[in-house]
Amino acid sequence: MKPYLLCPTYSSDGIMKNGTTRRGKQNYKCRDCGRQFVEDLQWKPIDPDRKTMIDYLLLEKIPLAGIARVVN
Ligand SMILES: [Zn+2]
Repeated sequence: MKPYLLCPTYSSDGIMKNGTTRRGKQNYKCRDCGRQFVEDLQWKPIDPDRKTMIDYLLLEKIPLAGIARVVN
């Protein structure tokens, strides 16, 4: 099974495996821009409830890092 992944930066599909993280998750690296990322944090679709909550949080001008902490 080939994972279908796109680089979050340029939507490039030049993704290669790059070992695993300390928690044992598969780590990937983009051949085009060199960005590294972990598959299942960024590639889950956001469910509508969570997206609504994020929109609210953005409206409140909470720093993005704070939002990321709240919604994981
Ligand atoms: Zn890239």
